[in-house]
Amino acid sequence: MHQKPDADAMGSSLGLSLFLRKLGHQTTVISPTNWAEWLKWMPDCAGVIDYEFSTEKANAVLDQAEWIFCLDFNTLTRTRHMAPRLRKLPVEKVLIDHHQQPDSIFAYGISDTEKSSTSEMVYDLIVESGHAGKIDIDIATCLYAGVMTDTGSFRFPAASPAVHRMVAALEDTGMNHTKVFENLYDNFLENRLRFMGFVLQNRMEIFYEYNAALIAVPWKDLVRYEIKTGDTEGLVNYPLSIQGIKLAALIIDRDEEIKCSFRSKGDFDVNTFARTYFEGGGHFNAAGGRSADTLEVTVERFLKALIENSSQLQ
Ligand code: 5GP
Ligand code: MN
Repeated sequence: MHQKPDADAMGSSLGLSLFLRKLGHQTTVISPTNWAEWLKWMPDCAGVIDYEFSTEKANAVLDQAEWIFCLDFNTLTRTRHMAPRLRKLPVEKVLIDHHQQPDSIFAYGISDTEKSSTSEMVYDLIVESGHAGKIDIDIATCLYAGVMTDTGSFRFPAASPAVHRMVAALEDTGMNHTKVFENLYDNFLENRLRFMGFVLQNRMEIFYEYNAALIAVPWKDLVRYEIKTGDTEGLVNYPLSIQGIKLAALIIDRDEEIKCSFRSKGDFDVNTFARTYFEGGGHFNAAGGRSADTLEVTVERFLKALIENSSQLQ
């Protein structure tokens, strides 16, 4: 899965792993980095190896692997410090992913940007391999978490009829969707909500002439509110709730790097925007990237990019 995994990366990986074990395979799930507290309730999450924290253990697993499944990312740079290791491993890599423009290093795989989530793709893989009956509550819970979050709770266009049929089938296992929602969205500490309030009040700028908004968060805010991995998830979406706003950006000084997130509504392509200006990528309406500059310089570069894209943002 990709670094700093979200619920789709974690859910699709755990779902596939649990399924493969039911077929008698030995599997290990590795995350390139740590992950949010609010993912730790997921079935078998306790068995996931954090590559940064347990590099030797993870490398030993990678060296023995016969197959490597790469889920919810399509470029090795998304695996951070794992990337050089993955690149030189001689074993076949199988891609299952729904982001745009995959690298060519994968031997097999499915890359489909029409799909709502990697979890939906794992579900399709299980069903189309004739093993739908192997989907138990744990697998259903993992896959539901991924599809629910990646579709914005079923509001994005990718929440197709097939997605709703999948959800119906997952419900039939006895999975509890209310619990999954609460585990993911009602599972934060007070400081996180105070932080959200603070940055919306103090760090958000609206550029009505470009139908755009920016939230730029300095490192000191993360320290002040004791912000941990995953606590800023969802923040970038808030400006899109303002009438007329087509592009929302979040630029965070995470100390070790400047992380950028972009969300759009309608026909503004943030995948291209993130690729062009911020070494990133993702989907048409949701993408991310990074910057090696300071927060101030990155914000200036963003403002310049807005001007360059003003005709598409009108
Ligand atoms: P987020 O803003 O939530 O980090 O990411 C939004 C989407 O863009 C996700 O689907 C994520 O996988 C993708 N994404 C985020 N950062 C990057 C990046 O640096 N490179 C690429 N290729 N995709 C990214
Ligand atoms: Mn995804």
